[in-house]
Amino acid sequence: MPVRFHNTYSRQLEDFRPLDPTGKLVRLYTCGPTVYNYAHIGNFRAYVFEDLLQRHLEARGFDVSRVMNLTDVDDKTIRDSRKAGRRLNDFTQIYKDAFFTDLDALHIKRAQHFPAATDYVPRMIEMIADLERKGIAYQAEDRSVYFRLSKFPAYGKLAHFNLDELRPSGRVRSDDYEKESIGDFALWKAWDENDGDVKWDSPWGPGRPGWHIECSAMATALLGDELDIHCGGVDNIFPHHEAEIAQSECCTGKTFTRYWLHCAHLMVDGQKMAKSLGNFYTLRDLLEKGWSGREVRYALLTVNYRLPLNFTFDGLAAARAALARIDEWVSRVTDYSRRPARVSGQERQDAGGEEHDAAGSESTIDFDRHVESFFECLDDDLNISGAMGAFFDLVRETNRSMDANELRPAKAEEILRDWRRINQVLVLGKELRAIPTEVSALVEQRQAARAAKDWAASDRLRDEIAELGWVVKDTKDGPKLNARA
Ligand SMILES: [Zn+2]
Repeated sequence: MPVRFHNTYSRQLEDFRPLDPTGKLVRLYTCGPTVYNYAHIGNFRAYVFEDLLQRHLEARGFDVSRVMNLTDVDDKTIRDSRKAGRRLNDFTQIYKDAFFTDLDALHIKRAQHFPAATDYVPRMIEMIADLERKGIAYQAEDRSVYFRLSKFPAYGKLAHFNLDELRPSGRVRSDDYEKESIGDFALWKAWDENDGDVKWDSPWGPGRPGWHIECSAMATALLGDELDIHCGGVDNIFPHHEAEIAQSECCTGKTFTRYWLHCAHLMVDGQKMAKSLGNFYTLRDLLEKGWSGREVRYALLTVNYRLPLNFTFDGLAAARAALARIDEWVSRVTDYSRRPARVSGQERQDAGGEEHDAAGSESTIDFDRHVESFFECLDDDLNISGAMGAFFDLVRETNRSMDANELRPAKAEEILRDWRRINQVLVLGKELRAIPTEVSALVEQRQAARAAKDWAASDRLRDEIAELGWVVKDTKDGPKLNARA
């Protein structure tokens, strides 16, 4: 079965095929945080879903080239940096650093690129100038530059708006669109006194880019004109992603993104998360209350991304219990894998038993079925609840088999290998760092080199593995990997 996703464009499940002619490379763009505060757990729900997406694609053999932008100039960053009495860059740097610390706490894999909007302003200006030349952008009397919606009839195709029913109602200068109706949106915002010293020179006078053009510019600069997958939360669909499509497609003449994936809202105790309701949590708030990043990851990861996630402390407690069960299972299977395959005749006599394998008669349970089912569920639009069900079936049946003393060491070893594959995607194992696929590939190559007694290649591969931050140790049970401290 191919990997399938629900595409917001078509509102249908579609088989996924990247544009790349080899079918391997996936160009993935994910809208990142606005760095004016600590990201909250609603934000992290989207980032954890995107992490699952990337890891599952990699498990299925794709090479994912991912970009996540950092919005470090917009209405909010300017407003709050001025409130804090700090220069914009100094202010946003605090939250950029905090964001990376939080990503690590949740074991979210780093994107290849985290472009900051302020590093791409010349490209944004270039795109706006291009749109102006084409008659699509115009400078208004307030000196800001707007996108002429009437020039892009496809506007609304992602959000499935019927544009005939919507009358453009003036222009939207603010980045904060929640309460605005549809209208020509700002590409370039003319400087005013509220912006303080935040401004760039442009053909339209001093000012700064609008939020939407930031993503169009960074996405196309780093991934090319055509992306395979673009993600975000459902609240990004309109107007942000509509605007990204309009700007990018008018500049390039190509389809900007082929698959749009959006994750649903996070609620807390059944209510919208809001500071005024006292149910607003950053990751830091939860860590301070004694929950671990792994527990929060579990709670955010294990609900299907297109369903609303109701975050509760009972849910976190359930995550803690589930993780304890996984930890116990892993340690038990590990013990079984280390049992000697057969006890000696003397020991058998001492034990008074008949001649049989130390680990009992062989289990006939088809464990592989559950492992396959785990990955197949994820193929189906990242059905994580189905995948977790399959995984816990594996846990239950292995436990039963161990209770009956029927699990042979070789089989236990095999199950541990399966667990490592599963955990590359889940990253819920106790080892805080999952082994990256590129590292395990190198370890495999090195094992092959050793088998062929090619010691030079083996040493070179060991160095390559070390460069990626892992130490490989050869033991009688095969190579063991440890993350470098
Ligand atoms: Zn964006």
